[in-house]
Amino acid sequence: MDYSSLVLKQKQFFLSGKTKEIDFRKAALQKLRGAIKNNEQQLIDALKADLNKSEFEAYTTEIGILLEEIRFTLKHLPSWVKPQKVKTPITHIGSTSYVYPEPYGVTLIISPWNYPFQLAVAPLIGAIAAGNCAIIKPSELTPKTSQLLSLIISSIFPREFVAVAEGDVETSQALLNENFDYIFFTGSVQVGKVIMEAAAKNLTPVTLELGGKSPCIVHEDANIKIAAKRIAWGKFMNAGQTCVAPDYLYVHKRIKEDFLLHFKKATEELYSENPLSNPNFTRIVSERHFNRLQSFLNNGTVTIGGNVNKEGLTIEPTVLTNISWDDPIMQDEIFGPILPVMEYEQLSDIIEGIHNHPNPLALYVFSENESIQKEVLNNISFGGGCINDTVYHLASPYLPFGGVGNSGIGSYHGKGSFNTFSHNKSVLKQTTKFDLPFRYPNVKDGLKKI
Ligand code: NAD
Repeated sequence: MDYSSLVLKQKQFFLSGKTKEIDFRKAALQKLRGAIKNNEQQLIDALKADLNKSEFEAYTTEIGILLEEIRFTLKHLPSWVKPQKVKTPITHIGSTSYVYPEPYGVTLIISPWNYPFQLAVAPLIGAIAAGNCAIIKPSELTPKTSQLLSLIISSIFPREFVAVAEGDVETSQALLNENFDYIFFTGSVQVGKVIMEAAAKNLTPVTLELGGKSPCIVHEDANIKIAAKRIAWGKFMNAGQTCVAPDYLYVHKRIKEDFLLHFKKATEELYSENPLSNPNFTRIVSERHFNRLQSFLNNGTVTIGGNVNKEGLTIEPTVLTNISWDDPIMQDEIFGPILPVMEYEQLSDIIEGIHNHPNPLALYVFSENESIQKEVLNNISFGGGCINDTVYHLASPYLPFGGVGNSGIGSYHGKGSFNTFSHNKSVLKQTTKFDLPFRYPNVKDGLKKI
């Protein structure tokens, strides 16, 4: 499909100045909120059809989180859009300095399948708040949700403001041939590189929200019961198909057995003793991903779970022990309900192990000791994370969310989203009441010469 005319229409609409009006932005966000609320049940049904997401998970991780993001944005938008007066150095006497946030223009948002509604709409909130137009390319692997997204957006916004382009890789590539003013991509590291290469042709700025292997460390002094429950929650939510899910566990040797007992209990509490017959357990998105995940089940020793339902594409919450960095499961992001566990004695050994791999998107450390927490924070670079929790950091609008190195470029959520979709235009306002000569050439004695 030819997207040139759509992009052109959006550019013209952007140049009309409409999207820059604060009242227009607020009204658009209110419309979006209204449409999400009106389609709550349809969204729950679509997410059930695409991924067998439970109503609880669909609401908390795809709907409620967006309603909260819109509420927060609407509340703070009037102050975010204001030009910020900043300091002026003495060398610039007579002038004042301002930073004007301005929208980029026409933006492209490409999103993945794992939270197919939330990850398409959360960046859109930032794009609208900052005064941009947007084209969203949702994932082809969750067609019901992508269709509904398209329906919702077209019912509230004209295409020259916000449009949804459904389709697969070809659609993505056709869009990437156009000259966008900003590209916001959420997806795999591999495709992130394709996006950046395409963006480079037009020097289009990008945000890349990628993935990677996110470690979770349970130290010997951790509150084991709480650690077990919070890790089981963060790992098995959405059947492990969460970019910031703990990918693998490092548990201190002295507490490993005790931790695993609590972990089994926590998993049963959350998903029952027979999760495969739990109608609310999310399925794996495709047969290809199911087969990839199933092949890991012969790595190390299955200590918890390990059963699968090929027809239903479900895999039990599973723990593998006797794992080393050489195992296939430790080569790439797992993105499924399988948790490999390695043990350690010295924190320094695992820090070295993590250093030998690309910067994680998230990291979690469970310890009651501040010096252990500091040692981890000071010595490992990662996108973001938690001390004594998992995943929760991404739900705070005060914490910019994003990766570092291979796990991504840039960040968003809350004011971070507004900043991401805004260019900071720096302006110096100079006086004409006097003109200091020392900046000009051939003036030796400053003011005396005027
Ligand atoms: P993906 O990279 O395969 O696809 C993401 C999007 O890119 C889809 O819309 C897809 O159609 C498109 N795409 C795929 N191949 C393309 C190509 N060659 N050229 C242009 N576009 C292409 O990712 P996925 O499988 O949908 O999602 C899983 C990945 O996303 C995981 O690695 C996960 O960690 C990551 N992720 C990151 C975050 C985050 O916030 N950092 C959130 C969710 C998922």
